[in-house]
Amino acid sequence: MLAPKEDRFARQREAMVKEQIASKGIRDPRVLDAVRRVPREKFVPSSELPEAYADTPLPIDCGQTVSQPYMVALMTECLELQGHERALEIGTGSGYQTAILCLLCDSVYSVEKHPELSDKASLVLQEVGCTNFRLTVGDGTKGWPEYAPYDAIIVTAGAPDVPAPLMEQLAIGGRLVIPVGDAYSQVLKKIVRTQEGYESHNVCGCRFVPLVGEYGWTE
Ligand code: SAH
Repeated sequence: MLAPKEDRFARQREAMVKEQIASKGIRDPRVLDAVRRVPREKFVPSSELPEAYADTPLPIDCGQTVSQPYMVALMTECLELQGHERALEIGTGSGYQTAILCLLCDSVYSVEKHPELSDKASLVLQEVGCTNFRLTVGDGTKGWPEYAPYDAIIVTAGAPDVPAPLMEQLAIGGRLVIPVGDAYSQVLKKIVRTQEGYESHNVCGCRFVPLVGEYGWTE
């Protein structure tokens, strides 16, 4: 499944892992293996193909973006995945981050606001051989209560605050990563749910497209 060992993007993928991800401090070998295996070129629009492995976010349909590879790896590392987890992603977008999660968890649930993006992501995920995911279209600020609790939750759009339903749907011992801030810049937060409550850590500054919904920004 996923990228064949020797395809024409293999060298670019290897350079991306080495120069943009491992060299910037991502250490989790499972995360490095996952970014080495997912063919990012399948998730970007054909007009962006030459840039598929560039150290930058890229535009996708509906005015959205697929995050910079380093940011995908960093957020994934923050989730501390071992393989048995049920994960929730808010903002399926291109499906690239979903594919990374598919390699690292037991099952992935992903919510996207734009039906066009969700439909396209579903096709690409199947094409690359992912099977342990379920997508839905809706307002992800409300989470996906049906399959809660989640051991890991990742929000790939910037929120004004952490949506309460996501805190509630996080399992005890679970990790949530989310960019929180204003429309122009955010802080990536990692929240761990403990027996006693929640612990919050600031990871780094970042910039994401807005999380639009009931517990996010208004349109
Ligand atoms: N993880 C994606 C990143 C996409 S950008 C990838 O790897 O490509 C963030 C996505 O969040 C956009 O597709 C946007 O449409 C979506 N989004 C914004 N608000 C949302 C909401 N309330 N619920 C679900 N998705 C939302």
